[in-house]
Amino acid sequence: MLVKKIVTIFKDFPKKHAAAIVFGLLMLLSISVLGNFDFSDQKKDADLIKKIEIDILKQETLFEPILTAKETTIKRNDSLFTILSKFGVKKDNIINLINSKNSNLLSSIEVGDKIRVNLDENNEIKDLLYIDDFQSGVRADRFENAYNINKFKHSLEKVRIFKHVVIEDSMYVSGLKEGIPESVLMDVVYINGWDIDFTHDIRSGDSFSLIYEEILVDGEKVLDGDVLITEFNNKGNKITSIRFDLTNAKSEYFSSEGINVKKAFLRSPVKLSYISSKYNLRRKHPVLHTIRSHNGVDYAASKGSPVRATGDGTISFAQYNGGCGNEIKIKHSEDYTTRYCHLDKYNSRSKVGRKIKQGQTIGYVGSTGLATGPHLHYEFHVNGKHSDPLKVKFPNATPIKSSEKIKFNQVAFNLASQLSNYKDISLREEVPSG
Ligand SMILES: [Zn+2]
Repeated sequence: MLVKKIVTIFKDFPKKHAAAIVFGLLMLLSISVLGNFDFSDQKKDADLIKKIEIDILKQETLFEPILTAKETTIKRNDSLFTILSKFGVKKDNIINLINSKNSNLLSSIEVGDKIRVNLDENNEIKDLLYIDDFQSGVRADRFENAYNINKFKHSLEKVRIFKHVVIEDSMYVSGLKEGIPESVLMDVVYINGWDIDFTHDIRSGDSFSLIYEEILVDGEKVLDGDVLITEFNNKGNKITSIRFDLTNAKSEYFSSEGINVKKAFLRSPVKLSYISSKYNLRRKHPVLHTIRSHNGVDYAASKGSPVRATGDGTISFAQYNGGCGNEIKIKHSEDYTTRYCHLDKYNSRSKVGRKIKQGQTIGYVGSTGLATGPHLHYEFHVNGKHSDPLKVKFPNATPIKSSEKIKFNQVAFNLASQLSNYKDISLREEVPSG
């Protein structure tokens, strides 16, 4: 009886698996026979069969059929039929899929979405995933000659990543070396860009630490999430910025004391990504021009790079002006004026009297006037006097409301403690042992 049962089980089993199982069974039987002469006992008999069946089930998961995975991004004029045909799936199989219940979920495929299939050794679809975005889509699983078709939605998981970077050559290169994704680095530049001019302020030996989120689906990273905290050590100053979700559903960055990192002025009128010395930010670029008294800062960038207004204001001057070349002046308040020189071209909206928003493009880098190469000369005037744009103290944007202060302090405390714990551990690990 036992033997008959085993034979039935083997019938549905591929040969190579059978060999392994026969060996296992012989072992099992020999142990049972030698160790226990009550073998004919009906109950034990049944128990043994049960055990063998469980063993076989366990084995089965080890011997999954060989599948071929195929994937494509849907292009214009693609249809499910053409895509699957290209994958080598036969017409009959495609028709089985299309005739299955709920196949209407697959009827409107969209350009840019993905289709991923697992084909068995006969090139028949075992399962198919239609991926709408990284999180949701439609799934089809073969069941006998038809398919079970259903929508799916994965839940997202967020993990926190800690990094500590000592700047050797440039903030950018050193960050990439530590494995920080470019988009996260750009966020760090944005968050700290109100306090630090990354073109002129970074010194070798400066360092920064941060915690950012990674978004996972099924344990796989799909996106870089938000930067939660950064701590920048710049020329001996420690600048901490903490992300906080405000009650109006917006998130902003604040210092440990709850002061908004945003300021009335951007530190730099040219985005870091346009700076010629992007890959070597520490090095000071040579002075490229000679305006008689040099009262500003120069940003070397290729011709045509956008120049942005560093603060809200009104354009008070926009025309060619001697050594400054094509010039723009913005009046921000009674006290503050900024000046931009050597522009190649003006933005079409840059007309005298026009209101300008912070970050808005006002013109493009050039070398008009007295300049030997394309760069922006930028000046900052306080009460009509030249001020060093790298040192001037900017007015701050709105701080944390007093009603949100308790919650903020809690968030800030938790993130700062987490950052310092991570830092302790990572720095301890760097100390060579022995
Ligand atoms: Zn200059």
